[in-house]
Amino acid sequence: MANEATKVTDQQSFFITLIGHCKEYGFIFPSSEIYDGLSAVYDYGQLGAQLKKNIKDEWWKSMTQLHENIVGIDAAIFMHPTVWKASGHVDNFSDPMIDNKDSKKRYRVDHLIEGYADELKQKDEAAADALLALMDELLKNDDYPALKKLIEDHKISCSISKTCNWTDIRQFNLMFSTAFGAVASEKEEDNIVYLRPETAQGIFVNFLNVQKTGRMKIPFGIAQIGKAFRNEIVARQFIFRMREFEQMEMQFFIRPGSQMEWYNYWKETRKKWHESMGIPSEKLRYHNHSKLAHYADAALDIEFEFPFGWKELEGIHSRTDFDLSQHAKFSKKKIQYFDNDLNEEGKPYGNYTPYVVETSVGLDRLFLTILSLAYAEEKWNKEDGSEDSRIVLRIPAKIAPTKLAILPLLKKDGLPEIARELMDECKGSFMCFYEEKDAIGKRYRRMDAIGTPFCVTIDHQTKEDKTVTIRYRDDMKQERIPISEVKKRVLEKIS
Ligand code: ATP
Repeated sequence: MANEATKVTDQQSFFITLIGHCKEYGFIFPSSEIYDGLSAVYDYGQLGAQLKKNIKDEWWKSMTQLHENIVGIDAAIFMHPTVWKASGHVDNFSDPMIDNKDSKKRYRVDHLIEGYADELKQKDEAAADALLALMDELLKNDDYPALKKLIEDHKISCSISKTCNWTDIRQFNLMFSTAFGAVASEKEEDNIVYLRPETAQGIFVNFLNVQKTGRMKIPFGIAQIGKAFRNEIVARQFIFRMREFEQMEMQFFIRPGSQMEWYNYWKETRKKWHESMGIPSEKLRYHNHSKLAHYADAALDIEFEFPFGWKELEGIHSRTDFDLSQHAKFSKKKIQYFDNDLNEEGKPYGNYTPYVVETSVGLDRLFLTILSLAYAEEKWNKEDGSEDSRIVLRIPAKIAPTKLAILPLLKKDGLPEIARELMDECKGSFMCFYEEKDAIGKRYRRMDAIGTPFCVTIDHQTKEDKTVTIRYRDDMKQERIPISEVKKRVLEKIS
């Protein structure tokens, strides 16, 4: 059995291989690569963009189509600067950072200590757990001198300079800002707008618009998918932590006092949804927050076991009435809900500020989750005893970027014409790929490597009896079916 040390190395090398695969097959490229890239920014290529869209569509459907009381919006990235004062982001959206004076490298304090704790765990698990518990306690109390002492006492050093020569701990705001409009203002800050660090605020400021125009009754939700920007200090681990990323958020508006009921509902519902996306239950776990954000009265992460350890995939937060109350205060508008049903239940009519339970999942992190589960290198012995191998992406068929590859065996004898007819029949219903070049085995391997769940080969027999060979990606089994059945068969499997 592999020991801990080799396990870590295997996981690291798996991760490097996965990143290489993403690039080689057109899933993800470093941004502006011809200029050597831009740190922690990535572009999705032809297959990545399609896979990402399919994941988005599944989430959107699960929220807005399958819940009658959830609607979706698409708010702008730029928002009035006061939004971020009201939300607390101007004052609070920061991480404690520490700089190494010799290398000038900046670290997030929790990441620095966690990295050390991971190493310590190999030798003394109890000591590592105690260290992390103490760190949590000190972070909760914003006790920066004690945190610095903790780093020094454990002689935690910089990975570059290897020294323990640290600055004091300071807060660093993660919001990007930019100048807005062409008119120069007397006061420079009048022109500053922020790139939104979360999509949630676009939902809160539209609460009344949506509630009134959609005649929404509490409980109801507003969902949104969109870009968010954070000037992450330690941006690493590929698309796990980026400076520009995408969130899929849903704010669920409820009666005050019912928040724990809905918090538990969404906690369960969201984990089940991840499982429906093919993530095994044992690869997911809940992590309750020990330090609650300024707006929350309960919060947890749904974590996934990434190749680099258990990390947050989605956050579930009970945000109380904090956001709506803050926007009411800063905008001087009344943002409340008139609950007619309370009267029918024999309680007095009431206006109140709704409470909110939020579900917030990182689209890119979910993409990485799905790919890291899908990637496999397989070897087996053929009938003649020789070895064969393949790389396969076992992406669930319903979200695979290409569903069906249509492959005429030869480029002649009327086979491409039949294949084109099948292509025309299917391409309006799902993503198809047509290819007539190279040996059929090579074409199958290429389709395995990009996760295409079905391949159909058109050969001479097709001309005689109108049957084709359909090949299944996962078990590589092949069967002969009538060409007229192909579309139905694929639709059945991807629905
Ligand atoms: P972390 O603790 O990992 O920094 P967070 O608690 O700040 O994450 P939230 O503010 O709860 O994250 O954001 C909701 C979701 O957005 C996260 O669960 C994550 O999936 C995603 N997310 C947050 N920051 C990033 C990022 N820099 N890159 C990619 N996805 C991100």
